[in-house]
Amino acid sequence: MNKYLPKNLAFSVYDIDFDTLYASGKKVILFDLDNTLASYDNIIPSKEQLKLNERLRKIGYKIYIISNNHQKRVKKFTMSFIVDGYLVHARKPNTGRIAKYIKKNNLNLSEIIFIGDQLLTDISCANRLAIDNILVRSISRKSEKWYTKINRLREKKIIKKIAQEDYDMAQKIIEIIGTRSDHSE
Ligand SMILES: [Mg+2]
Repeated sequence: MNKYLPKNLAFSVYDIDFDTLYASGKKVILFDLDNTLASYDNIIPSKEQLKLNERLRKIGYKIYIISNNHQKRVKKFTMSFIVDGYLVHARKPNTGRIAKYIKKNNLNLSEIIFIGDQLLTDISCANRLAIDNILVRSISRKSEKWYTKINRLREKKIIKKIAQEDYDMAQKIIEIIGTRSDHSE
């Protein structure tokens, strides 16, 4: 199987049926932070984000953030967005640090759902660790860093390859990811 193939797709974290997901056995959420939960310039959680946070905790989820970004960014965000833990400098798409973190926190792989906005980092990591995953649309591409822009070019090639194996899936991914002009911010 192509390691970049997302297991599931959603337009945003607000479009995921977390109740059903929990009932199906997922008890742990690994969130990518930037452009999945919040845009890069979204330093402090919005009311909507805090509401989601509260809902997830009420359902019973354990919540972790797995970010390639630095401590200061994630620490500030999680001052009010309550999580069970976070991993910074995660070095996605490498899986080493994430695998260690999962082990350290005694998380059961089959109970985890990984939610992220990038095929190249989030989805490929989750797949290689045998973790179910959901691809969401990036909140704002305008503020993406240069290395993410490079990843986006690679992503295009990957989607082309996916289309050769599974045309419908590739169309679905394109629909979720969208083009740059689809992103309002
Ligand atoms: Mg991201």
